[in-house]
Parts: sequence; structure tokens; C-alpha cells
Amino acid sequence: MPASLAERLAARIAATGPITVADYMASALSDPDFGYYARADSTPLGAPGDFTTAPEISQLFGELIGAWLIDCWRQAGSPDPVNLVELGPGRGTLMADIMRVARAVPEWRAAIRLHLVEINPALRRSQAAALAGEAPVWHDTPADIPDGPIMLVANEFLDALPIRQLVFWGGKWRERTVGWSAEAGFHFTLSPGVSALSLLMPPDLRPDQGAVFEISPAVFGAVTEIGRRIARHGGAALLVDYGRTASGLGESLQAVRRHRMVPVLETPGEADLSAHVDFGAVTRVAREAGATVAGPVTQGAFLEALGIGARADRLKQKAPRDKADALDAGVRRLTGADAMGTLFKAVAITAAGIVPAGF
Ligand code: SAH
Repeated sequence: MPASLAERLAARIAATGPITVADYMASALSDPDFGYYARADSTPLGAPGDFTTAPEISQLFGELIGAWLIDCWRQAGSPDPVNLVELGPGRGTLMADIMRVARAVPEWRAAIRLHLVEINPALRRSQAAALAGEAPVWHDTPADIPDGPIMLVANEFLDALPIRQLVFWGGKWRERTVGWSAEAGFHFTLSPGVSALSLLMPPDLRPDQGAVFEISPAVFGAVTEIGRRIARHGGAALLVDYGRTASGLGESLQAVRRHRMVPVLETPGEADLSAHVDFGAVTRVAREAGATVAGPVTQGAFLEALGIGARADRLKQKAPRDKADALDAGVRRLTGADAMGTLFKAVAITAAGIVPAGF
């Protein structure tokens, strides 16, 4: 076995030629031995980890989503049993907040069959600890969830799925690939011919030389799976992530390590790689799968429409000063235009007839 992912990838490229950005990203994140999300010792989340997410910032995020799920479930006719699914649950904080809210609604609580889609063994252990007593069942991919009505939530999951990059060069859309040489190490290269993926691009782009278009077949696959299940069995899904409202030009692939940006090709497997989610593509694909879509709206607008301000005020009445200040700071980070409020977006995918709150 090689000593590192860099060694494994270099050998692969030397043997079979440059790989796509998506192949690089998939290996860097989920190589079974060295991938960032597959490594048993990786600590992606929280202050000592590499990045912080909305549920880790404030309990308000999960509590509002918990109420959102109950409202959609009732509109769906209160199916019992129902698969409550989370994709990429991180440390289990969001689902723990959702389950705390569920205790106030016994018929919802009793109907829930909890399914978590997670590839990281260390995070699976954190989730088991955060959800002790809830008997979750873990899966490697959304396709493995049993059939039936679903209520699904995913926060910062889609941004971790591999993207491909097309570069407009010499009047053609060519695919960006990753090469390796002993002298230059890992470096970006371009496929020689036109990429067939360019057929999937919006027709109205006006690229200049060097323009980049990102496309994620993995996101298409995950959203198609969710949309088809909801169209067939009923239910609703809430997808929250950072990204763009409509498909368009621009490069967003980034690597983050210990809360700092690092070069994408520098340390494969040791930094988190993510890219902006193309919500234009997400809504298109979900509709094509037969589901109804609401949004995208900004995270700030979504949480405010769900009443984050009033909920924070109510909790503050019973809270000591430092806790009250922390609640206010959490609301500002989640909704502020200079923080997560505008960059992050929410989309709801539902069965026909459900009108999701917050959109
Ligand atoms: N939702 C959590 C964590 C976001 S980080 C939060 O908001 O805090 C991304 C999560 O998705 C992690 O739990 C990671 O291990 C998981 N993940 C990343 N790629 C995945 C994949 N291909 N399949 C399943 N889970 C994945």
C-alpha cells in the first residue's frame, strides 16, 4: 500500500494519464484509506476542526428545521411510518436538535424511522453518541434508504460532492484535468478535445478565454434520487448549502484546512474540498425527477420567515446574560448578509400539494 494519497494518485496518473477534477475530488474526500471524509482520524467540524457549520453555531437552526419538518409531514398526511433521513449528518448536532423538537409531538416522534447517510467512520461514532436512544440506521449512499415516504434534510452535503470543471480555451469547452510529473508535482491540465459535458451547459453563456463552468454529475445523481423518491412515495426534502441561485460561469472549488484556505492540489486527503452548489441545476433536476420545488431563497430570508428572531427572544427570556448574547450572535451569523445569510441558500423539494414554510 502507498504511504499517502499523493503517492497513490501520482502512481495512477503516471500509469493512465491525467484524471478529471471530479476524480481528484472524489479520491481526496473519500479514498477508503486516505480520503478526507473516510479517514478515521479526520476532525472536519467545529472550532478545533477545519470548518464550522450552521447547526454547530446555534441550536436555533436545528429547532426551526425540526418544526419545518413537522409542518411538511402533517401536510403530507402524517404518514406513519416515515423515513426521517439526513445526508451527511456531521457530528449529529442538527439531528439531535430535530429530535428534541420531535419529543413535543408524540405522533411524529412515533412515526420516525431514522436513517443517516454518512461515509466517515469517526463521524458515525459522534452521531451515535449524539443520538443515543434514537436507533439510527446508517447507509453509504441515499440509494440504500428503504422505500417509503421520506422527510429529508441535508446541510452542507451537496458542496462535498465531486464537481467537474470545463474551461473555455481556444473557442472550445475543454475539461480541466489533474496531471502529475516528478518536476512539477500535481498540476492542472486540459483535455485535448471538446468535452461532451458542454452539451449539458446552459446555451446563453458568453464565455471569454479561460472562463470556467462547474458541473456536478454527483449532485445531479443525489438530487434525482431524492426527487424520484418524493414523487413516488411522498414527503419533503430541505437542502441547505452555500452556492449560486442560477447556473453560470465561475470557479469555486476550494480547499480548507484548520479554518484557512490552502491550494486545492497541495495536500490531497488532508484538506476539505468543496464547491459552490449550482441551485439552478438542483431545481431543474428535481423537477425533471417529478417533484415540486420551492426556492432557492437565501438562508437569512428562510430562517427569518420561520421566525428565528421570535424564537431567539423567547429563549433569551429564560437565559442568563452570556447565553442570551450567544443566541444573538448565532442569529447574526446565520442570517447576516456579511456572514452566512446570503451566501447560503435553501431549496425545498416536495410532493405535489405541500406548501413548505419559509419560501
Ligand atoms: N451536515 C453537517 C456536516 C456537514 S460536512 C453539518 O451541517 O454540520 C459534510 C458531511 O457529509 C460530513 O458528515 C461528511 O462526512 C459527509 N459526507 C461527505 N461526502 C459524503 C458522501 N459522498 N457520502 C456520504 N456522506 C458524505
